[in-house]
Amino acid sequence: MDFDFTEEQEMIRRTVRDFAEREMIPIARDNDRTETFPAETLRKMGPLGFMSGPVPEEYGGAGMDYISFAILVEEIGRADSSVRTTLSVHVSLVQMTILQWASEAQKRKYLPRLASGEWLGCFALTEPNAGSDAANQQTMALRDGDGWVLNGNKMFISNGGVANLAIVFAQTDRSLGHRGLAAFLVEKGTPGFSSRDIHGKLGLRSSNTAELIFENCRIPGDALMGQAGDGFKIAMAALDSGRFSVAAGSVGLCQACLDASKKYALERQQFGKPIANFQLVQELIADITTDTEAARLLVYRAGHLKTKGIRNTFETSLAKHFSTEAAMRCAYNAIQVHGGYGYLDEYPVERYWRDARVATIYEGTTQIQKLIIGRHVLGVSAFV
Ligand SMILES: Cc1cc2nc3c(=O)[nH]c(=O)nc-3n(C[C@H](O)[C@H](O)[C@H](O)COP(=O)(O)OP(=O)(O)OC[C@H]3O[C@@H](n4cnc5c(N)ncnc54)[C@H](O)[C@@H]3O)c2cc1C
Repeated sequence: MDFDFTEEQEMIRRTVRDFAEREMIPIARDNDRTETFPAETLRKMGPLGFMSGPVPEEYGGAGMDYISFAILVEEIGRADSSVRTTLSVHVSLVQMTILQWASEAQKRKYLPRLASGEWLGCFALTEPNAGSDAANQQTMALRDGDGWVLNGNKMFISNGGVANLAIVFAQTDRSLGHRGLAAFLVEKGTPGFSSRDIHGKLGLRSSNTAELIFENCRIPGDALMGQAGDGFKIAMAALDSGRFSVAAGSVGLCQACLDASKKYALERQQFGKPIANFQLVQELIADITTDTEAARLLVYRAGHLKTKGIRNTFETSLAKHFSTEAAMRCAYNAIQVHGGYGYLDEYPVERYWRDARVATIYEGTTQIQKLIIGRHVLGVSAFV
C-alpha cells in the first residue's frame, strides 16, 4: 500500500487550490445569496482540464487517474459545493457514461465539446414518481420509423436548465420492467424538449436544478446509447461513477469545515484566551479531523480500484455513505465552533451545512447506500 502522492497529483492539488482560492471562494457567498449560476467560473475551468478529469486525451480530456480526479473534485468541493455538483454531473455522470456506453461516433461527436467545457451535460434519471425506485420510469420512448418519440417529465435534474446535452432514461416496453429501459443522448433545442428551473433549494443555491419536459419529442435512431434494454445497467454504472465524485466533493467540504474551524478557534477569544485552548473545542476539532481523514481514505481506496479497473460498487457506496454523512457532522461541528457567528452568512460554515445536506440524498440516499453495502456483505440480491 502506498500513501504517497505522485508529483503530478501534488501539482494538481496546488493548481486547483490556487484557482479555487482566487476564482471561487471570493464569490461563493454572493452566488449563494443571489442564486447565480457560476458560468464564468466554469468557462475558466475548461482550458485548465478541470471539466473532463479522467476522460482520455484522444477525446479531448485530461486523462487523469482517479486519485488525481478525487483531488480535483475535493479541492473544488472545498471551495463551493454548487460548482462541485455541476462538475460532478458533467464529468462523472455524463462524460464517463458516454465514454463507457456510447458508440465511437457518439463519443467523437460529444466528448470533445463536453471535455473542453464548451458544452455542459446533464443526467436525467429521476422523475416526479421515480427517485430511489429508478427502474419505475414513466417517461416513454416509442419507436417511430427510424427514430424515437419521448414523452414524460424528469425531476431535480442538475444542470438541466443550462445543459447542451442530456442523457435521458426512458421505458421502451413496460412489460419488460427494468429490462425495457433505454438511455438516449438528447440535444438542447430538440423540438418538444424544454426545461423549467427549480428555485428555493436549501443549499447548492448557485447550482442549476431543473425539471425537464418531453412532449412528443422526436429524436433520431442514433440518439440511443447502447441497446434498448441497456438503460438500467447504464444508470447503475453511471451512479458508481457519480457517487465517487459526490464522495470526493464531500471530503472537500469536510476539509473546508476543518480549515474554517481551526482558523476561528485560534482567533476567537473568550475568558481571556483563544477558544482553541478549551478542551471541548479541541474535541470538536478532533471529531472534524477524524471524519475528514477517514472519509478521504475511503474515497482514495475506491479511486485506487477505479484506476485499476477493478469492480468497486461496494467500496464506492462505502465512500459515498460515510463521506456525505461525515460532511453533515463536520458542518454541524464547524457551526458549533463558530458559536452564534456560525449561524450568520458572514462565515461560510452555515452554507457548508446547507450544501452538505443534499449529498446524503442525491445519487442514492444514505438508506440506498446502506442497502447496497448490506446486500454486498450478506451476498443477497436486490431482485428477490
Ligand atoms: C439538488 C438535487 C439535485 C439532483 N440532481 C439530480 C440529477 O442531476 N439527476 C437525477 O436523475 N436526479 C437528481 N436528483 C434526484 C435525486 O437523485 C433523488 O432525489 C434521490 O434519488 C431520492 O429520490 P426521491 O427524492 O424521489 O426520494 P424517495 O425515493 O421518495 O425517498 C424518500 C425516502 O424514502 C427512503 N427510501 C426509498 N426507498 C427505500 C428503500 N427501498 N429502503 C429504505 N428507504 C427507502 C429514502 O432513503 C428517503 O429517505 C437531485 C436531487 C436534488 C435534491
